[in-house]
Amino acid sequence: MDYDLWWLLAVPLVFGAGWLVARADGRAARTRADALPAAYLRGLNFLLDEQHEQAIDEFVDIVRLEPENVALHFALGKLFRDRGETDRAIRVHQNLIGRSDLDPEQRVKALHELGQDYLKAGLIDRADETFQRLGGSTYSERALRQRLQIAQTVRDWQLAIELAGQLQQEQGADRASEIAHCHCELAQAALEQAASQPGEREQHLAQARAAIDAARSADAAHPRSWLLRGQLGELESDPAAALAAWQTMVQVGPAYLALVAREFVAAHEKLDRVAEALAQLETIAAQHPSVDLFGAILDARAKRDGASAALEWGSGALLAAPSILGYDRLNELRLATELSESERNECEFTRTLLRAQVRRLSRYQCGHCGFKARRFYWQCPGCNRWDSYAPLRSEELERG
Ligand SMILES: [Zn+2]
Repeated sequence: MDYDLWWLLAVPLVFGAGWLVARADGRAARTRADALPAAYLRGLNFLLDEQHEQAIDEFVDIVRLEPENVALHFALGKLFRDRGETDRAIRVHQNLIGRSDLDPEQRVKALHELGQDYLKAGLIDRADETFQRLGGSTYSERALRQRLQIAQTVRDWQLAIELAGQLQQEQGADRASEIAHCHCELAQAALEQAASQPGEREQHLAQARAAIDAARSADAAHPRSWLLRGQLGELESDPAAALAAWQTMVQVGPAYLALVAREFVAAHEKLDRVAEALAQLETIAAQHPSVDLFGAILDARAKRDGASAALEWGSGALLAAPSILGYDRLNELRLATELSESERNECEFTRTLLRAQVRRLSRYQCGHCGFKARRFYWQCPGCNRWDSYAPLRSEELERG
């Protein structure tokens, strides 16, 4: 049974009280009240057996007999929603709100339930409107959190920043990194637009810069704003600025260098400082093993020293720290070199053999809900948590 429905166990108390009153009122009322607990218990039993449809039938019957029983209307509405019957849930809660005998606390509860019905039904605008009406009530904080969730789902980052700020101010909850992420989402969109719309490039770069600055003001210790500041530097053809930002990112979160390892090498190449990049990548890779760092080092070495020297380095590194993903990168580089036909066949065969494993081990994984994805996410698409992905592939996560 749904955890939230356990409060239904308290409903017999309501019946109990009604039943006692009914006994005092006489025989006719007693007949009706006697029937109620039995029907209620049948409904509860169905619920415990996960037979939701039969439970609903029982509760609908009781509600017909006891229309004034508000607790049951709430239980029924929630059951409908949990079953995906959002139209019926909405009707139940709208009827409740329309009742004149409802006390103010029950009314805000019904509004909150209605907001959740709309949300489940995908009626986002109506859900947001309903939650807005709960401002200043005992459901204010919950409604604000739900509005924040909606704003993030529809990617209205400006509104999300406002709502997270309001929550932080009103509830004293620390939302700094969430606010920084929202600014970063705006920055990332502006950077993408700057790259894809050359005509409005300057305007988008300025927007990105402002959003990155705001993210840093919200939470300077988070690696994401520094990572984006580096990418802004790259787009502005300023590799020194890009590297300065990424160096700060390495201070606050060295493992995140894996996400920009190739750009990190490229910026060093532009400044003729490849040796420095390699030394730093190898130091970080020793502490935070990552196939992305390994691949960036391998390619940079191949470019500087030639493929065979790079392959020799790569084989040695893999012997010290075996990795299927690393071995696949090595084979990829090997295939780009001069090989005899039999060597080439063997190399291609090995890659084919490992393809499914490589695909599985390359995925990123949410540390909270386990959602796996081919690309890295700052906010999990499965559970909506921020920072629940480590910048590591499954193979590295499994190795611990
Ligand atoms: Zn998740």
